[in-house]
Amino acid sequence: MDGCLFCSIASGQIPATIVYQDEDVVAFRDIHPVAPFHVLVIPRVHLASLADASEADAAMLGRLMLAAGRIARDEGFEGRGYRTIVNTGAEAGQTVHHLHVHVLAGKTLSWP
Ligand code: 5GP
Ligand code: ZN
Repeated sequence: MDGCLFCSIASGQIPATIVYQDEDVVAFRDIHPVAPFHVLVIPRVHLASLADASEADAAMLGRLMLAAGRIARDEGFEGRGYRTIVNTGAEAGQTVHHLHVHVLAGKTLSWP
């Protein structure tokens, strides 16, 4: 989508440290990491948030989560553990309105 930061990263118009990409998803390092390992996994298609997802997006959502798990495993965090987060809307603190999964790892994470 024109003017969307994460669409621009996915298309290479705005640089990012890409850690994984395929036909459907792109993963890159968060610019303000809150853990030693912090990447964002996004679908190439523009979807503002999880609230905009429908049955038609089921396969894409599955690929997004599978990619998040694969990246964590490939980075060596499967044994230690890692956290996947999707912020949706204002009170969750969503600031970029292109669906993304945070993958956090590399330290003991507090909750919430
Ligand atoms: P949200 O709060 O919407 O779930 O997360 C958005 C994330 O995008 C934040 O963690 C923020 O640091 C990250 N972010 C914002 N702008 C950029 C950018 O230009 N490049 C990268 N790599 N990450 C960004
Ligand atoms: Zn977008």
